[in-house]
Amino acid sequence: MASARFDLHSHSTYSDGTLSPRELVALAADRGLSGLSLTDHDTIDGLEEAVAAAQILGLECIPGIEVSSSTLAQGEVHILGYFIDPQNAALHEMLAELAQQRVRRAHDICALVHAATGKLTYEDVLAQSEQRTPGRPHIARAMMRLGIVHSVQQAFDEWLTPGGKAYVKRTGAPLATAIDVIHRAGGVAVFAHPGARWRDGIREIAVREAVAVGLDGIEVDHPDHDDNAVRRCVELCDELSLLQTSGSDDHGIGSEGPRLGCRTVAERAVNELRARAREYRARLNG
Ligand code: AMP
Ligand code: FE
Ligand code: FE
Ligand code: ZN
Repeated sequence: MASARFDLHSHSTYSDGTLSPRELVALAADRGLSGLSLTDHDTIDGLEEAVAAAQILGLECIPGIEVSSSTLAQGEVHILGYFIDPQNAALHEMLAELAQQRVRRAHDICALVHAATGKLTYEDVLAQSEQRTPGRPHIARAMMRLGIVHSVQQAFDEWLTPGGKAYVKRTGAPLATAIDVIHRAGGVAVFAHPGARWRDGIREIAVREAVAVGLDGIEVDHPDHDDNAVRRCVELCDELSLLQTSGSDDHGIGSEGPRLGCRTVAERAVNELRARAREYRARLNG
């Protein structure tokens, strides 16, 4: 029998993915996975649907999240949380603040684009996010729909990233807060894709900054990591005694369709995360 594989990074329509949690879980089953983690940006609202769908199909759905954060030295980063308790009050409080930041930023971006083109309202963006808290991909899709750009990529390159015509900085949760809140929610904190969209190598200084405030692991294998980035992540994990994870970062879209299952970990890695999460829970309850 093939060994059990788990994809630990995916996005649904509750953030900027295009598949519902139910559809993602069904796709995971189709692709022969034993489990997945739903890790929407700054929200846990899709977890209930995902966990219920996984139960029906006999898959494991690890409750996850991808928290927007920022480092002193290397700018915006994402911190994954695994085995979090979706009921946790500290988590809810942080996510409410992050949602407010997103709404404010989307309004600011719309104002800049509107001033430059005479098009794009906040309502156009909400139509793309199905009235949920918006992210930049929803803004990019709205801009494409209105003919301001011809692709989502063009929207990011010319408008939405640093140096772009409508770039608005957002700080996310402070790194120490993001990691501490994940721990207080009984979860494990993992540095997402440290080599993604980075000039060369990986964000090593940022990883060290995160380790100083309690980081548990690094997402080693990710579609945006070349061999060199993967190797450097593994070296850092060895040096700093960090857990290793992998995931596809599936958003449901892409030239080849959804990439769920293209990066996975074995059951042993999931069990290591689970054991670490249990330690945090024991500490909280003890
Ligand atoms: P946000 O969380 O609203 O800042 O949006 C971040 C999301 O936008 C990421 O998770 C990606 O899905 C997407 N994204 C970020 N940078 C780019 C880029 N340069 N090109 C295309 N998509 C991007
Ligand atoms: Fe995303
Ligand atoms: Fe990310
Ligand atoms: Zn992601």
